[in-house]
Amino acid sequence: MAYAYCPRCDRSFRYSTDAPEGPSWLKELARAIGRGDQALALCFGCWRLPRVGDEVQVLHPPYDLLDRVQRGSSGQVIEIVATPEGVTCYLVQSPLDAMGESIWTAVFRRHQIKLMNAEEGRTLRLRLPGSEMS
Ligand SMILES: [Zn+2]
Repeated sequence: MAYAYCPRCDRSFRYSTDAPEGPSWLKELARAIGRGDQALALCFGCWRLPRVGDEVQVLHPPYDLLDRVQRGSSGQVIEIVATPEGVTCYLVQSPLDAMGESIWTAVFRRHQIKLMNAEEGRTLRLRLPGSEMS
């Protein structure tokens, strides 16, 4: 069991790796991987795709909204849109203020946000492919 750091959000999470097939060096690598290091995979919150209605946390605010949207802010996905180039983006709205109005609404790419409440306590299990590498 490794406690490693998500390469996108820096949060520590648990994952385990194993290599049931393949050369001995691959099995040794699977045992040694990621202990306190950067993980080979993203954590659940950075990995799973948000859906409409999901709560997300801002990892990287859009450049043109740096004065209004802070890193770590939370919001809710209200629409999933695609750019003309076909890139999936997420329209996110801030929580409402005392007047019932949202403070900001912004479009984010996937790497700029993290899904909240995404089974953070679970252990991610990775199996290294080895059958073609022996
Ligand atoms: Zn993460």
